[in-house]
Amino acid sequence: MNIETNHHIESPKEKQNRHKAMEAIKLLNTLREDFKAPIESMEYFYDLFERVHCKHESLHDDKTKIGTMCIQIPSEIIYALDGIPIRLCNGFYTDDEIGSDFMPQKACPLIKATVGHFASGNFSDKPDIVFSPTTCDQKTKAGSTIESFGYKFIDVDFPRTKESEASREYWRRSVKQFALELSKFQGKKLTKNNLKDTIKKIGYAQSLYNKLSDFRKNEIVPILGLDVFLITNAFFFDKIDNWIEATQKLINELEIRAKEKISVTGKSSPRIIYTGSPPIFPNYKIPQIIEESDGIIVADETCSSNRMFNDMVAVDEWNIYDMMDSISDKYLKACTCPIFTKNEDRIRRVVQLVKEYKADGVIYQAFAGCTVYEMEQRSVLEAMEKEGIPILYLESDYSPSQGGQLSTRVEAFIESLKTRRRNKK
Ligand code: SF4
Ligand code: SF4
Repeated sequence: MNIETNHHIESPKEKQNRHKAMEAIKLLNTLREDFKAPIESMEYFYDLFERVHCKHESLHDDKTKIGTMCIQIPSEIIYALDGIPIRLCNGFYTDDEIGSDFMPQKACPLIKATVGHFASGNFSDKPDIVFSPTTCDQKTKAGSTIESFGYKFIDVDFPRTKESEASREYWRRSVKQFALELSKFQGKKLTKNNLKDTIKKIGYAQSLYNKLSDFRKNEIVPILGLDVFLITNAFFFDKIDNWIEATQKLINELEIRAKEKISVTGKSSPRIIYTGSPPIFPNYKIPQIIEESDGIIVADETCSSNRMFNDMVAVDEWNIYDMMDSISDKYLKACTCPIFTKNEDRIRRVVQLVKEYKADGVIYQAFAGCTVYEMEQRSVLEAMEKEGIPILYLESDYSPSQGGQLSTRVEAFIESLKTRRRNKK
């Protein structure tokens, strides 16, 4: 239904944009105003999200936009072929509702929101082509729906086992095929020098993320987990050089804050490792509840943040074959998504993060409808119990409701961590 505002008849598209802008600005204002000791350099990131999601500003007008549906599509190759990678995983409730008309009711909200975004076509930077690795069933099946809206959509075969030599070879072939398709689409040849430069540039961005993470290991934590999610989500679509510059500036500010012992937490705030279905802007529902309940997220194990930056491409010989294989191996090995048959790496990584970041507990969130994360909670919970690490499992979706019940559970968990810490002294 169209509504009339100030004598202007609002179209359905305008209404959707207005709702999305409201979702975005609500979170951005919370981040700007509701937490202690705000960081000045975060304004670059708040402003970036506002420009893209509230003002619909295009960042890459003059470039070919290469849409990706998951972290598995190597950005190094996209940049080397003169494209701009735009990761299209979506966190808007408005898009989730639009997508519900095309997806089963029980589908994961991330998929519904991603499909809803394509259905509405409300992109500030519309993808010219989309590459989608065949990871989880829902993502894989959503491809044909997206294609039916008129987008150029290409599947990239992804193995569902990780350890075997056969899957490693399989994925190396898929990555080569992806590079060929993209090279054809762009009418450009992949060269040794271009690929080397982009491996180095992304490696540099990763090293900045690691520096940023080091500050979170300190007893006095100078940055919110929510802010870090925003920084890593910005990497989905920002101009990489701008992202590097803004992150470098932020690190400089954190250095000063660390010296001056400026903390964003209370004295006894429990330190939390966050794992599970990825928080994607503006759906920071659970991280927000955690940090509004006096917890502090010191690290995460999710594909919208830590998993994107954790492992670097390791090249022995800088020839094109070796670089391509090293890129493929990095993307497969670094992935700890529960889409794999076995996933011991994920458990190992969560335990390692707890130790490295001296965390008090883990919060594991699964989107209702995301079967693989729901299924894997059992093995993760058992492993944490064995290690003596407290863990809370939550199920959530993108709806604005449900907050009260989730808050009560998070608050109770955080209180129990405080008591545990006091008893240890
Ligand atoms: S949850 Fe898994 S399949 Fe989904 S985007 Fe993340 S890595 Fe990809
Ligand atoms: S959250 Fe689950 S269902 Fe959704 S994309 Fe990731 S793995 Fe797939």
